Amino acid sequence: MSAARWIAVATALAFGVIGVRPLLAQAPPDTPSVTVRGQTYTPRSILARNMGTDEDQTTAFPPHKVIGNIYYVGTRTLSSYLITTPAGHILVNSTYERNVKTIAQSVERLGLAFADVRFLLGTHAHGDHQEGDALVKSMTGAQVMAMQEDVPALQMITPGAKAHPIDRVLRDGDTVSLGGTTLVAHLTAGHTRGCTTWTMKAMDAGRAYDVVFACSYRAPAQVTPAIEAEFTRTFKIIRALPCDVPLGDHPAQYNMAAKYARLQPGAPNPFVDAANCWGEADVQEAMFNAQLQAQRK
Ligand SMILES: [Zn+2]
Repeated sequence: MSAARWIAVATALAFGVIGVRPLLAQAPPDTPSVTVRGQTYTPRSILARNMGTDEDQTTAFPPHKVIGNIYYVGTRTLSSYLITTPAGHILVNSTYERNVKTIAQSVERLGLAFADVRFLLGTHAHGDHQEGDALVKSMTGAQVMAMQEDVPALQMITPGAKAHPIDRVLRDGDTVSLGGTTLVAHLTAGHTRGCTTWTMKAMDAGRAYDVVFACSYRAPAQVTPAIEAEFTRTFKIIRALPCDVPLGDHPAQYNMAAKYARLQPGAPNPFVDAANCWGEADVQEAMFNAQLQAQRK
């Protein structure tokens, strides 16, 4: 069940639209709460922040250059990135299938051709990030690549009974190269078994920047020993990644809207934000620890 579905259920319950069903048991609770850098979060507030409204999930955010050859082409709350190269484009996250046309329009608004997408990558096997993979492949012929630990979950995502395309199965540390750009796939499991954080170097105005496309690090309501082990490894691994430009699969994870508002010709690029590279990880790790503590009571 996707995060969006939980939001819909929580909202419906709040307004008394539907009765109590078994799936309520898995809706994100409003405890525990953690305060990180003056902001207080609960599992429910984090999910609400990530997803916004139905309209936020499906309305294009103004497409824009992030840095170097990296562009944002997603919606207000679901990230999709286009990486351009002389040999074609790499798209990271198709999001919902119903968003694929919107993403294609955002690419065209940048003056680029959606049909030139050669590789389709993803951060994790949830519908709000990768449901549109089959449609993107049918529109562009792109090769779809996925971390092996996420393959079983991706194979369950079959909108309109279309099989989920997977052309190349990746392992931790594998690289994907196209037209002089190389991305590294880092297994950062916990949120899903194959949650993938992507890194690459972007050249901008003669300087190289380390860019991190973070996976979601949000723990499920119930942290099993296996998931605890995954997150313990993940929180260690990500903090060792070189990072100048933190990005995420939900824009709120890196304060995209506020940074976008600060974009000015000639001014420093607000997306270069090394000091806040692990801000989102700090929030999620604090929540993860608070959840573990609550579970052990
Ligand atoms: Zn997710």
